[in-house]
Amino acid sequence: RTPRGIPLRVDGLRKEFGGITAVDGASFQVEAGSLTGLIGPNGAGKSTTFNCITGVHTPTAGQVQFNGENITGLEPHEVANRGLVRTFQIARELEEMTVLENMMLAPKHQRGESVVRSVTPGLRRDVVSQEEELREEVWEMLEFFELDHIAEVEAGTLSGGQRKLLEMARALMTDPEMVLLDEPLAGVNPTLEEKLLERIHELREDGYTFLFVEHDMDIIMEHCEHIIVMHQGKVLAEGGADDIRNNEAVVEAYLGE
Ligand code: ADP
Ligand code: MG
Repeated sequence: RTPRGIPLRVDGLRKEFGGITAVDGASFQVEAGSLTGLIGPNGAGKSTTFNCITGVHTPTAGQVQFNGENITGLEPHEVANRGLVRTFQIARELEEMTVLENMMLAPKHQRGESVVRSVTPGLRRDVVSQEEELREEVWEMLEFFELDHIAEVEAGTLSGGQRKLLEMARALMTDPEMVLLDEPLAGVNPTLEEKLLERIHELREDGYTFLFVEHDMDIIMEHCEHIIVMHQGKVLAEGGADDIRNNEAVVEAYLGE
């Protein structure tokens, strides 16, 4: 992969819930191959922004562009098909399945490929080899996240950190180009936190693009080359760690926390 350009452009994004304006005209861009941080006090509109970008919510106004295409208002699977995904919490019904089963069930290579459904013997072999190929990729991914030793463990019994690793591994099975991470370190112990951050950096070097919401500002400052600060639904500031650290409006926004 050789990432280039600006895959994600958010322009004048607005989302109202009844009388509440959760996102109030936010505009920003994310550069290809970057690890971009999105921070802001509680209630700033970060999660709602993610939900509007990935089709979970339909924006009230504004536009989301991915690789030059207007994807505003598309369904989540349509957005994912284009290579833009967010991590999702393991659903309750998946908790009773093993880590391996969770991975096998992750929506795989949705982009442009249709699942072969046929009863003719020749094509059946294709299905078998596809399944084998999938299994191989699943194991590779499990090894990458050091989850292979717990492949047969029920997902519902994982620690908070292992669960986050699995959520990310599942998201990557869709073969995305860009991944949105909403507080991927919440409830993760320091050892696993280090591991998860290392994996994110490795993936970024492989050409993935990340937009990363995290409550711990120090982590964002240390790991992200570009930081966007949201406050009351708007982009308050953006820049490198030093710009953000010395930004008076940002300091003030966090004082009320
Ligand atoms: P953040 O992720 O930055 O903490 P959110 O995007 O979750 O902020 O929330 C922004 C604002 O929108 C908050 O005031 C929150 O209460 C409100 N909000 C978020 N989701 C909904 C919803 N589904 N219905 C009503 N209000 C919501
Ligand atoms: Mg949030």
